[in-house]
Amino acid sequence: MKVMISYPPIPSEKGVPLISQNRQFQWFNRPTFIYPVVPAYAASLLKERGYDVVWGDGVAMQMGTDDFKLFFDREKPDLIAIEAKTPVIKFYWEWVSALKKLRPGCVTVLMGDHVTAFPEEAFEHCPVDFVVTGGDFDWSLLNLANHLSKGEALEGGVYWKDPKEGVVRNSGTFKLEKNLNDNPFIDRELTRWELYSTENGNFKYTPGTYQMAGRDCWWGKCTFCSWTTTFNNFRSVTPERHLDEVEMLVKRYGVREIFDDSGTFPAGGWLRKFCQGLIDRGLHKKVVYGCNMKPGILKQEHWDLMGKANFRFVLFGVESANQQTLDRLLKGGTVEEIEDTMRMAKKAGLQPHVTCMVGYPWETKRDAENTINLTKGLFEKGYIDTLQATIVIPYPGTPLYREAKEKGWLLTEDYNRFDMREPVMKLMEGVKYEEILKLTQGIYKSFLTPRFVLRKLASIRNLEDVKFLAMAAGRVIGHLTDFSVKQPKQEALKI
Ligand code: SF4
Repeated sequence: MKVMISYPPIPSEKGVPLISQNRQFQWFNRPTFIYPVVPAYAASLLKERGYDVVWGDGVAMQMGTDDFKLFFDREKPDLIAIEAKTPVIKFYWEWVSALKKLRPGCVTVLMGDHVTAFPEEAFEHCPVDFVVTGGDFDWSLLNLANHLSKGEALEGGVYWKDPKEGVVRNSGTFKLEKNLNDNPFIDRELTRWELYSTENGNFKYTPGTYQMAGRDCWWGKCTFCSWTTTFNNFRSVTPERHLDEVEMLVKRYGVREIFDDSGTFPAGGWLRKFCQGLIDRGLHKKVVYGCNMKPGILKQEHWDLMGKANFRFVLFGVESANQQTLDRLLKGGTVEEIEDTMRMAKKAGLQPHVTCMVGYPWETKRDAENTINLTKGLFEKGYIDTLQATIVIPYPGTPLYREAKEKGWLLTEDYNRFDMREPVMKLMEGVKYEEILKLTQGIYKSFLTPRFVLRKLASIRNLEDVKFLAMAAGRVIGHLTDFSVKQPKQEALKI
């Protein structure tokens, strides 16, 4: 059986869709290709278990729709699995219909957080054969392939349409019970790692690549986070296994920077062992490391150890400078901890990056300005280096989506518009649509303080620093356009 793991292309004036590895969703103006770690594990596991596997990321391969149809027709897979998210689900319904027309015998599968939230919906809109729910695409797809080719019983989480009765049936609720240490390492050649090794703002040093120590986040409570739907318990690999993979990536592929995209990187004893392992194996002299972390968790000694182990980029989901918002989002922690954490990370020599959002239905304009002021202050003090700002979106399956439905906040249910570039929830009385776009731009502009710019210019040591700063500046300009009132509308897909 031949299996294709895929993201069919969605050519759009909005830019490149960031479908994989995103707990939310964005189109990026500048090319950005994030390594789809769990689908890459799926490809590697299927190959290890004897299946013929093709990597078909039409987005990262920068294909047009006709190119992808030719590619699909030439490869002739027996099964194609596509990861979708809410803002692209309508396009992927169209793609499933088009692919079924091209090769009616090919089994089509949709997976991801959107279909996990609404598993039956896809059957109303396209001739999809199976919907796989839950986040362990690797083990679920292996089970499905074994079911189709060897008659293995289906595990929980799979949906299909009964052809005789026309009703959607399922194999029960998905369970995340597999031990992540039982997975093979990702087959980087099979999954075309080089496609994702340069065009990514998380890398200063290239080639870079991704790992995932855990699925997905040991906190796992934020009410807006779409991966709390697909990963409802936390598991991680051992620090030793993770170090073995780092060592392999450095030796075999010459990787210079690694970003670990676990929702929140393991802390405590795991983190200590991992950092010490990087140092003991001499990997801290060969590779730069990055990860996602929650503010308010680590102490100065942890940050210092990470600094010694050559961590550079750490991404923090700050979300808002208002305690009421942090509490409502179940973000955990306090506003005071945000600044404290950035200060400690910076002191240890790291380069913190924060993400924040505006457009909460309960936030006033003043509240949103507080968030801008917080980021501005952090830049001024030299505690953070980069940031990302978006408009909060209630993704299906999340508690925030349920709250938005219950309270009548949703302004539209057109999934194409759930892309964090415009508000889809009612704003607080007195806050205007255009203001929210301007406030988002305001967050991006907040770094333009004379002290920050001077400090950055003074920090230039080599050509790599110049290139990195130029890339970061280009990305900020791109993001300012993302939130312009005249941003491009999503055109229809021509397949
Ligand atoms: S910290 Fe919150 S937003 Fe981030 S991955 Fe965990 S649950 Fe999701």
